[in-house]
Amino acid sequence: MNLVEKSQKYLWLPFTQMKDYDENPLIIESGKGVKVTDIYGKEYYDAFSSVWLNVHGHQKQELNDAIIAQLERIAHSTLLGMTNVPATELAEKLVHIAPNSLTRVFYSDSGAEAMEIALKMAFQYWQNLGETKKRKFISIKNGYHGDTIGAVSVGAIELFHQVYGPLMFESYKIPVPYVYRHDSGDAALCRDECLNELELLLQEKHEEIAALSIESMMQGAGGMILMPEGYLSGVRELCTKYNVLMIVDEVATGFGRTGKMFACEHEGVEPDLMAAGKGITGGYLPIAVTFATEKIYEAFYADFTEMKTFFHGHSYTGNQLGCAVALENLRLFERDHIVEKVEQHSIYVQSLLEEIKELPHVGDIRQLGFMCGIELVRDKKTKESFPFDRRVGYKTTLKMRELGLLTRPMGDVLVFMPPLVSTKEELKKMLDIYKRAIIDVTTKEAQAIAYP
Ligand SMILES: *Cc1c(COP(=O)(O)O)cnc(C)c1O
Repeated sequence: MNLVEKSQKYLWLPFTQMKDYDENPLIIESGKGVKVTDIYGKEYYDAFSSVWLNVHGHQKQELNDAIIAQLERIAHSTLLGMTNVPATELAEKLVHIAPNSLTRVFYSDSGAEAMEIALKMAFQYWQNLGETKKRKFISIKNGYHGDTIGAVSVGAIELFHQVYGPLMFESYKIPVPYVYRHDSGDAALCRDECLNELELLLQEKHEEIAALSIESMMQGAGGMILMPEGYLSGVRELCTKYNVLMIVDEVATGFGRTGKMFACEHEGVEPDLMAAGKGITGGYLPIAVTFATEKIYEAFYADFTEMKTFFHGHSYTGNQLGCAVALENLRLFERDHIVEKVEQHSIYVQSLLEEIKELPHVGDIRQLGFMCGIELVRDKKTKESFPFDRRVGYKTTLKMRELGLLTRPMGDVLVFMPPLVSTKEELKKMLDIYKRAIIDVTTKEAQAIAYP
């Protein structure tokens, strides 16, 4: 059996209809810089940073060396009741770069777990304070926080989440300010409508609400929905006013992705709890983190007999190899001025995206730093979408694969999230492929629909 046949016989891949995989198998063997190579030697631009993770490119020598150096000391020891050297050093670094309100670091292995932990901390916080009525959550329609049941309960993407409905705890869902799909198309109007709806809910229910969870500035998996100016800070004000904790999900947006170290800095927002992951190790190893305020930490700090301990942990929490590479990643952020570079290069990306926006089937483009979504539509004037069963987004990414570039669509929204070190030349080459693939597929599809 060759490798492809083995993959088709033994594997079950995440978020993948295996029937699709069987028709278009792909096995990556190596990577260097912003490119990855498959088992046949074909190279592809990693235009989605291997699902939103990669920072310094693949095979970054300093990151490789950091792991090897740590490996020669120890690979792993537990964080239950004790700590280790890199987890401790990293905690200090993380607190220094996080928004001021956040002073404590709790490790886990994935973004979903980091959110799960934030939800449990928020819940237990009020229980520990004796405010036992505060048990419910508010979340945002179309939101995504990972795939464990708690994270799914505060998520709201119908396609992914509906089937698990009976397993979830209930949470109040408020609308997201999706300006392109708002009747008025006006950002301020759309924002104020959404904030008003939140305030009405809080007025009525705040006594039973523990926390609100929200992605920071940009909903990712829900289709790259950029929140209008003043929205996230508006949510912060309302949470404070009605005594509800604000959990900000920076798993996708954190670590420089949007041109700030954390996206909530765009609005000067200081969360009560914050989840991060993805870029934390430069895309090398599975580490995630939940940040908390000192006030929340203190509500758990007591004699053991008071039963206020946070009873949560994972086998690999605070893994040394992961923490060591995260530390080196953060050192490179400083040395190479990564955040500033993203901020500068995103202006260039914007100019390239403006050309793409002129294409006849590109309805909307949403960008914050190196986090971009390109929404394809059948009719640009009416904003009518392509029929679901045409799979236009998916077909466009298959075309890009043929042209030597990898990304994943969300419906008909194409994701462009290149590694943060991508040069202008690389960015241009990548977006040229987007342009060619979009023209090729949308022209054919529009014709096929009009003249079946
Ligand atoms: C990817 C993502 C998660 C989940 O992270 P995993 O590491 O895949 O579990 C949570 N929230 C957001 C906003 C994400 O983009």
